[in-house]
Amino acid sequence: MGWRRGYHRLVTSDSRLVDAHGRVVKDLRLSVTPRCNFRCTYCDPLGIGSHEPPGTLQAEQFGVILRAAVGLGMESVRFTGGEPLLRKDLPDLVALAHEAFGALRPDLPPGSADVAITTNASALTKRLPDLLAAGLRRVNVSLDAVDADVFRLATGGGDIARVWEGIAAVEVAGLTPLKLNAVVLRGVNDDQVPALAALTRDKPYHVRFIEYMHLDNAAFGTYDARFVPGSEIRAAVEAAHGALESVPTDPSAPARLFKVRGWAGNIGFINPVSEPFCSTCSRMRVTSDGMLRPCLLNDREFDLKPALCAPDPVAAVQEVFLVAANRKVASGLTAPVERPRTMVAIGG
Ligand code: SAM
Ligand code: SF4
Repeated sequence: MGWRRGYHRLVTSDSRLVDAHGRVVKDLRLSVTPRCNFRCTYCDPLGIGSHEPPGTLQAEQFGVILRAAVGLGMESVRFTGGEPLLRKDLPDLVALAHEAFGALRPDLPPGSADVAITTNASALTKRLPDLLAAGLRRVNVSLDAVDADVFRLATGGGDIARVWEGIAAVEVAGLTPLKLNAVVLRGVNDDQVPALAALTRDKPYHVRFIEYMHLDNAAFGTYDARFVPGSEIRAAVEAAHGALESVPTDPSAPARLFKVRGWAGNIGFINPVSEPFCSTCSRMRVTSDGMLRPCLLNDREFDLKPALCAPDPVAAVQEVFLVAANRKVASGLTAPVERPRTMVAIGG
């Protein structure tokens, strides 16, 4: 295997970015706004505001980052936030991701690149046509409950009917797999686990249960009381629906997948706290204010903004990616601490 000169160990001859611990970095998460119209307690949302906060990157700047990252071998791009649908130019961002893949990955069949969003789906119905036209390939929807009242409580006022409309629109558009993500909090929505799992009985959804991570400050001090381990969530699913069967899973993906025999969909468990998957982590994140964050759980960030002003910004941004990959920690897991930046401003 050959290496790019000057960055031995970090970029292979087939342009794959490898971190200091030998992990290939291939999945990019771009947080495009810290604003959100929901108030999920575990995420520490700031509010909606009338404008993006000062310092939020423009679409062209995200375009540079996308070209840099795809040039370094990234295979998937997921737009997140905050709520990415609050960003009016989200279709432009999706189109920029496709342009980057089209220009830099001629080996991929046109339009086949994994370009996705993670959304609360409350405004998805009206935004989806433009996103599809821009080339959106897949959607992850956060759905913490099936009961409308529990949903409203968990999301600080979210209207589940609008989320179901968004989910239906994604199904009609044929974007698969449709992943529905639920963060489980004791005393908030843990009673919803069996009903959420049952959504996979007739539909080919991937319902994924996510362990609550201490990435909020609002609930600081109540974390341990709210945390529900994945083993307990799985036990609740099996108590209601019978034993789960294992489904083969991409080892670098955070979810371990299962299904109830004969059911249409999959049930996944993302257990970053009780079963950390840091050794197979393939992700890096960029925040909406232009900070490159090699690890979700570690607060170290690398500023991309000076590189975005360089004469050759794509090459300069790639240099920051290389430095950040070299500094990506083996594991970011720590005891609960107060966070300089909470989940809503990082992008899950
Ligand atoms: N607003 C969009 C949404 O809710 O899907 C995208 C942003 S949200 C930060 C991305 C994901 O992070 C969601 O699935 C959310 O449930 C998850 N999340 C937020 N805070 C979390 C926490 N403290 N622990 C685990 N997951 C969290
Ligand atoms: Fe908003 Fe998503 Fe955070 Fe909920 S999880 S507050 S929808 S950003």
